[in-house]
Amino acid sequence: MPEARNVAVSFAHRLRDAGHLAYFAGGCVRDHLLGKEPKDYDIATSATPAEVVRLFPGANEVGAHFGVVIAKSKGHMVEIATFRTDGSYHDGRRPAEVAFSTPEEDAHRRDFTINGLFEDPESGEIIDHVGGRADLEAGVLRAIGNPVHRFAEDSLRLLRAVRFSTKLGFEIEAGTWAAMREHADGLKRIAAERIRDEFSRTLVLPARARGLDLLVDSGLIRHFLPEVLDLIGCEQPPEWHPEGDVYVHTRIMLEMLGDHAPLELCLAVLLHDIAKPPTRTFDEDAGRIRFNGHDALGATMTEVILRRLKYPNETIDSVTTMVGRHMQFMNVQQMRTAKLKRFMATPTFPLELELHRVDCASSNGFTENLDFLLGKREEFAAEPLIPPPLITGRDLIARGLKPGPHFKELLESAQTEQLEGRLGSREHALEWLLDQIKDS
Ligand code: ATP
Ligand code: MG
Repeated sequence: MPEARNVAVSFAHRLRDAGHLAYFAGGCVRDHLLGKEPKDYDIATSATPAEVVRLFPGANEVGAHFGVVIAKSKGHMVEIATFRTDGSYHDGRRPAEVAFSTPEEDAHRRDFTINGLFEDPESGEIIDHVGGRADLEAGVLRAIGNPVHRFAEDSLRLLRAVRFSTKLGFEIEAGTWAAMREHADGLKRIAAERIRDEFSRTLVLPARARGLDLLVDSGLIRHFLPEVLDLIGCEQPPEWHPEGDVYVHTRIMLEMLGDHAPLELCLAVLLHDIAKPPTRTFDEDAGRIRFNGHDALGATMTEVILRRLKYPNETIDSVTTMVGRHMQFMNVQQMRTAKLKRFMATPTFPLELELHRVDCASSNGFTENLDFLLGKREEFAAEPLIPPPLITGRDLIARGLKPGPHFKELLESAQTEQLEGRLGSREHALEWLLDQIKDS
């Protein structure tokens, strides 16, 4: 038995030995029944938080989640929550009051039937008050109770529905789906950070393209990333993009990313052509559509979008860089060695290479630039792309130069010469320097 489960079983025993009910609850039951190893375990119990804390010395009650205590052992954390009912919601975000109650009521406050199951940790018996087992077997995601009310209570559930449906490949039940479409604008009341987190968790899933379709078709994306809607129907030159419009192209790329793509890459793929709609023109002379400057404007739009969604600065920087540079991959074969090495030395380059791969694979199928870069990566592998400098500012000062803007220029030229392979040693570089000074 995996250690996390062992820990959770022993915690449940401790609660039972003290005379309380204790069940595994929610996601861990769902995942276990699906044959997947649960990420973490939650226990639902009849013990009050005070009783739980008494039984688990050192455990803490979590302030933000009423009635939840976190107990730890061997590096595993288990959330132990008292059976409760959530009372009424006033603001579409959090219940106004909560009360301790029965397992049945606790099951009914949960979001989806597949998340509303309990498991007896001793017998393995499944306690199903909400029809979750049948939905799990049928592959259906269904809100517990009246879906319209449930989404009105808590609008984050709209995005959770998309995430679980995407993660598990489950169909969203018709009534649940209709309620989602009806209540999509409830997202307006949800903080950007919470939207960001749910959206990110969906975007990194292997079925992220389907997740995107669900966000579009439900109307949810309109409230946090409306720019994506403009990709739909944005026609492209068929000789470069036989696959279709920008949305189709983008979603094929998302599909091609594979199962473990990092968030930055998924965001960069999603946003790489985000400025095609506003830059689209028709070149009468050439008789074709153009998107001049969509890379630079795309970087600007990416920054605006990711800031609005409150992504951390490093994420914004990486994704913006990737979007801004994605067209440069078409010119790599014409770059001089120094420029190419600098291009390849950027921290995001490995991810950009993958973006470029799927950009071509999803459209025209060209691989020349990718193959060229893979070859160069081998060729340059023996040494660092940017080796330590042969000369520094001190050498310039030693030769009587005064610090100023030309320092940077000189040192950059020295680096260019070094990257081009024209300066092999420090002596050589110092000679070169004397030459430069003499000329100026
Ligand atoms: P994951 O694998 O993503 O952690 P999970 O089902 O464990 O899935 P959590 O967000 O950890 O999801 O929540 C644990 C349980 O709490 C859920 O299974 C569900 O029963 C309940 N729950 C969580 N968020 C909500 C919500 N917004 N509304 C109603 N019930 C919720
Ligand atoms: Mg969980």
